[in-house]
Amino acid sequence: MSGGGTPPVDPLALRLQFLKGVGPRKAADFAKAGLETVEDLLYRLPFRYEDRSRMRPVRSLKPGERAAVSGTIISAHLLRTRRRGFTIFHAVLSDASGSIRCTWMNQPFLADVLVPQLSVVIFGDVRLDSSGLHFLNAEYEAVEAEDADGRTPLRTGRIVPFYERTGQVTPNMQRRLVRDALDRLPPVLSDRIPPEVVARVGLPDRREAFEGAHFPPNEADVEALNQCATAAQRRLIFDEFFLFQAGHAWRRLSLAGELKPRPVVMSDAIRAAAARVLPFKLTPGQRTALKEIVDDMCRPEPMHRLLQGDVGSGKTIVALIAAVVAMEHGLQVAFMAPTEILAGQHYRNIATLLSHSRFRVELLTGSTPALEKRAAYASLARGSTHLVVGTHALVQDDVAFRELGFVVIDEQHRFGVAQRAALRAKGLRPDVLLMTATPIPRTLALTDYAELDVSKIPDRPPGRTPITTLVRPESRRDEVYALVQAQIAAGRQAYVVYPLVAESEKSDLKSATEMAEHLQTEVFPAFTVGLLHGRMKADEKAQVMQAFLSGRTHLLVSTTVIEVGVDVPNATVMVIEHAERFGLSQLHQLRGRVGRGTHASTCVLLYQSPWTDEARQRLQAMHETDDGFVIAERDLELRGPGDFFGTRQSGVPALRTGDLVRDRDLMERAHAEARQVIAEARLPESLVTFLRDEWPARFGFIEVG
Ligand code: ADP
Ligand code: MG
Repeated sequence: MSGGGTPPVDPLALRLQFLKGVGPRKAADFAKAGLETVEDLLYRLPFRYEDRSRMRPVRSLKPGERAAVSGTIISAHLLRTRRRGFTIFHAVLSDASGSIRCTWMNQPFLADVLVPQLSVVIFGDVRLDSSGLHFLNAEYEAVEAEDADGRTPLRTGRIVPFYERTGQVTPNMQRRLVRDALDRLPPVLSDRIPPEVVARVGLPDRREAFEGAHFPPNEADVEALNQCATAAQRRLIFDEFFLFQAGHAWRRLSLAGELKPRPVVMSDAIRAAAARVLPFKLTPGQRTALKEIVDDMCRPEPMHRLLQGDVGSGKTIVALIAAVVAMEHGLQVAFMAPTEILAGQHYRNIATLLSHSRFRVELLTGSTPALEKRAAYASLARGSTHLVVGTHALVQDDVAFRELGFVVIDEQHRFGVAQRAALRAKGLRPDVLLMTATPIPRTLALTDYAELDVSKIPDRPPGRTPITTLVRPESRRDEVYALVQAQIAAGRQAYVVYPLVAESEKSDLKSATEMAEHLQTEVFPAFTVGLLHGRMKADEKAQVMQAFLSGRTHLLVSTTVIEVGVDVPNATVMVIEHAERFGLSQLHQLRGRVGRGTHASTCVLLYQSPWTDEARQRLQAMHETDDGFVIAERDLELRGPGDFFGTRQSGVPALRTGDLVRDRDLMERAHAEARQVIAEARLPESLVTFLRDEWPARFGFIEVG
């Protein structure tokens, strides 16, 4: 260390190529794996630990066990066999209790390493052959009382960490590198996490955590280590989660930095006005969600909230009541739907509900005639239209509002920072309510949507009929047909759905077409069977759907997913063929096509063997619950975060240290703590620097706006 002008170097920021034994080649391998600094290396936790701490007397060894012994090499020799290049190295190790043979295949260099008189620790499988007990290809490590480098044994005689291999860097080398890196650290490290947070969560300091996670003391609980449940490991996981969440909380706050021109002030008059619009009693879930939304509207900073609830849970009315509250304040409302058809549906629905109020509602979509459009623009700009329903373009185009105060977005997941920035650029800082029927697991809500607040409607309006879900093997097909027969005979209708099966769209189509023919001619000759598939033209599809909706078709055979929005209340049976091939959320969506009327419904999951264990668990989950939130959590558990987030094309960065499923409690905690720290503006300087300079790159987000 030189004194004087050199600025203090953060030992964790040291680049890996400056560690002993890391040349450009290994540094490149590390970089490829995203590891550039000592800090990166230390946050890469072992994926497994093995207890090699207890030395066993040689005499006590038994065949078939894995054990560690410590002793001296008393003899060694290398055999070259007749097979070219094949070598066997034999050594005999002895301790106070006896001696044992150790054999290594094809590692001739050991003749220079494990020399007689050397003190070593051996760890491995104890085997028995005709000439007695021996170790085969065991791990070894020299124990030198006075190691020239003062090095301690790392892979024997202790609880040993195992790392994922990184290119050229073997797990063994990584162990040594981590040790060296740790040895360079000063006893006290700076910390980006405020000390009171660390204390509140009950975690050790960072220096201690690094040591304990990589080289745990021999008395540590190996099982807990392997589950990543020790305080040391959890501290490092928490660090990552906290930094991630702090970035979101920070963004959220800086977006909220600009305050709403006019927050809502609740009064009895407003409550009464809202109650007049309400056609029925809200469920407890709806009431809670509405309260959360209105509370946000009363706050000075703009709302950014996600309202989740299964299809049919009654999100629209909640949004509409909140909209009435806004309109009572003279604020305008934009209600956006993903398609023109859905916009039309919302418009009719809302116009009916508001028909006795003084509020004027307008529909504005791409197909609105130019003349009407111009008139609508004008009345929005004047403020004489209070609520406008339309597609996403509503807040993007040149639509001008007199005072837009509340935006509702139905089924729009990706309305985020960029869109809000676009609104702010127009001088608009409305409250924003996003609505989705795709249940989002809590962990995902906390990550992908971390800058949002989340409300849930967990219950359903009264009077809904339950859906019974049956899981049946192919061999019980007749029983399933009997059920369909009975329901259609009683005046109901049924769906039979085929998955997007493996080979090709063609063969899917073929099996669905053949199935429809078979069902029509051989199974249900007395009924009318319809067929719907993706290759049909739009008007053909519409005809098929219309026939089913009107009841002319009794049974509808369909490939893949039946269009979203299909609503045939008289349909009471959903048969899903090859259910073992569907994902959980898709099964749940399909099941939601029935149970929409007053008659009890059944969903039959027909499966064909062989099915995987995971498929069995999926169908079991479907049988056990029809709660979309539970289904979403199970889906995440079964598929694991990588797959789950991968297929969702999510913005979730690859979290390196923690696991969103295993460590979800920590993510929850990190979310709460980060929001508090940011809200109270008690940020250590190093955290501010990190959030400003490193966070976007580290967590892989592209900032827009
Ligand atoms: P989604 O959450 O899928 O958007 P909707 O808002 O379309 O659900 O509501 C589904 C249906 O349930 C609508 O016909 C709506 O009028 C009705 N509904 C909503 N809430 C209630 C309630 N509390 N009591 C009775 N019916 C309700
Ligand atoms: Mg809806």
